[in-house]
Amino acid sequence: MAMDRRTFFRSTAGAAVAVAAMTTIDMRAWAQVVEEAPVELKGSLCNVCSSHCGMYIHVKNGRPWKVTGHPDHSRSRGKLCPRAHGGLYWIYDPARAKTPLKRVGEQEFEQISWEQATDEIAERLKRVLDQHGPQAVFYGHNPRRSGVVYGNRFMHALGVNTIQTHNAACNTARVLGLAHTFGSSYNADWANSDYLLFIGRNMGEGIRTSTALAFGEAIARGATVVCVDPRLNESAAIAEWVPIRPGTDMALLLAIANVLVTEDLYDKEFINTHTIGFHRFERVLPQYTPEWAEELTTIPADRIRSIARGLAAAAPAAAVDTGWKGAFGAAYANSTDTARAVAYVNALLGNLNKRGGIRISRGASLASLPFQAPETPTGPRGDGVGTDYPLATGHGLPHLSMEKAQKGLVKAGIIRHHNPLRTIPDYDHMLAGYRSLDLLVVIETHMTETALEADYILPEPSFAEREEVIEATGPSICMRTKAIEKVHPETKSFDEIITLLANKMGVGRYFDFTLDELNEALLSGQPFSLADLREAGSIEVSVDQPEGVPELNTPSGKFEFYSQRFADEGFNGVAEWYPPETGLQLRENEFRVVHGKQAYHSHCATANIPMLAQVTKDYDTNRVWLNAERAANLGISDGDYVRFTAPDGRSGEARVKVTERIHPDMAFAPGAYGNRTPYFELSEKLGGFNPHDITAYRSEPIVGHTMMSELIVEVKRV
Ligand code: SF4
Repeated sequence: MAMDRRTFFRSTAGAAVAVAAMTTIDMRAWAQVVEEAPVELKGSLCNVCSSHCGMYIHVKNGRPWKVTGHPDHSRSRGKLCPRAHGGLYWIYDPARAKTPLKRVGEQEFEQISWEQATDEIAERLKRVLDQHGPQAVFYGHNPRRSGVVYGNRFMHALGVNTIQTHNAACNTARVLGLAHTFGSSYNADWANSDYLLFIGRNMGEGIRTSTALAFGEAIARGATVVCVDPRLNESAAIAEWVPIRPGTDMALLLAIANVLVTEDLYDKEFINTHTIGFHRFERVLPQYTPEWAEELTTIPADRIRSIARGLAAAAPAAAVDTGWKGAFGAAYANSTDTARAVAYVNALLGNLNKRGGIRISRGASLASLPFQAPETPTGPRGDGVGTDYPLATGHGLPHLSMEKAQKGLVKAGIIRHHNPLRTIPDYDHMLAGYRSLDLLVVIETHMTETALEADYILPEPSFAEREEVIEATGPSICMRTKAIEKVHPETKSFDEIITLLANKMGVGRYFDFTLDELNEALLSGQPFSLADLREAGSIEVSVDQPEGVPELNTPSGKFEFYSQRFADEGFNGVAEWYPPETGLQLRENEFRVVHGKQAYHSHCATANIPMLAQVTKDYDTNRVWLNAERAANLGISDGDYVRFTAPDGRSGEARVKVTERIHPDMAFAPGAYGNRTPYFELSEKLGGFNPHDITAYRSEPIVGHTMMSELIVEVKRV
């Protein structure tokens, strides 16, 4: 039977009516049974954002009752954010993918068996590999352990090395910028710092539970905490807010570096012993005065000087935070060099592996797998990493893949727990790419926008119904455990699906083990068993942290102010100022659109969860923020509907929040809304605007990220 959204819901609703007709429930008796039922605590991991905080699922009568934070998990530290509580709804959500589905028309599917689905997928995948080679196939996922261990192994067994995550729309610039200076990412030691500078990061909304706690603790301890952001966000509201023109963060950082050097406030011992290229940096630095930066950033020169002097006075117990997705994640043409400039300031402070500075931390480690592994393919990738973009990271370029799909160069893909049609800019571009493929398989728990474009949807159990590969997160070794029985018996976990497909593709020898055997092997050498970990959910182990400055993971083994790799590829050897690609000049009715998270939503995945959607509704938070004075000049009042029109003519509509809490140049769009799957009915009713619908497809020159904030729109009241 062909199944579209209407028949999909009707079949679920019909079953519910039939059950209701057979029984009459005594609510008082029911409540008593629920109250008195014994509670079982199942240690597990949250799945509502990629932090995967440790949690307990409290189970009563075989159903999850509530969740609480796991005290022995380094990301939750006994607490959870609102999204985790809302996430319980996903388990019984009518919009779940429940059986294998095959597409028979636009957003129309028929139920098929696993046997048929995996036979047909294997046959079509083999055909693509035979006719077009492994470069024509990609695998995209949210990069957690099961996805890596099973997904990457399967792809490598097929000779495919185009493996992608969401990072090109998240933190790729930061990762690359830090890799080419410090040699790796690092963490600021918030717990012991006396002066913390955050740029474009908001712990109150882009929540990782442990970092939100640590941020509050730093404020309570009396550390100076400065939040540079175009918006008076929740973090800035309890710290010192420094508003900045969006896209100019690198200018601020270079000016801070200028003050540190010209006022002789930097750590010469660190610079002389542990860095290369400082003198080249010194030569470009004189032009970057605080007065020069004031013109660009709109931050007064004296404030820039006071930040630099404050950092220097507290050094080495001072740090510029690494940020995440904001100003130097994947936002602007200058984001990668902005990340390098963040590293420059930390190097000048000489704070590496110093108390209160920054730390290249070690985490718990797991044993390597003893099973036969396929060779890692070494041929060119199908998404331009290493060729079109020699410095791009292994996280890949899904948007470039879809350009190549439209050109007939990419032909098939498998996507798991990833919804690029909502999280990567330019919906039309991504959609055209997916529709050009010979085969798209989506492994999902829900009928997402990307799933609806698949030829086959393979349904997974929700996070509470499946066990997964063990993870090491900071000092915690942890695992997702199966807290309840499957709600939809036809669903299969990722390890089962990949093992099935591998057998059908003739590479089953690489999956000749059970999930339990794999997890036991990973725990080899630990003083506890798989049964112990399953019982606990998360166990903290002791990990030695390096003291002093180690040899860094750069070509020189030192911190690199000057990068020969950058110079060899035609980029600035030393990071120097250049503006966003879309410039900084705006006409009277133009705004730069920047989007960001909300504390109670996780990208576009949660707006259909009733209790979280209710928060949005009660506090009216799916509006786009506009500066009060500029809105008044355009005759726009709080709550008005406005139209945002991009240079290519595409447009979207949203209600606005008129506020003085935002820089005049910026329109802030909360990034949780604007779902386009008809299966998310509540989200559809809630409405909202997703800037990715009107952001043009483009790639940043150095690392190839999506430049999500290179969007200038005309704003008009409707
Ligand atoms: S930050 Fe919140 S949503 Fe993300 S994993 Fe932790 S509790 Fe879950």
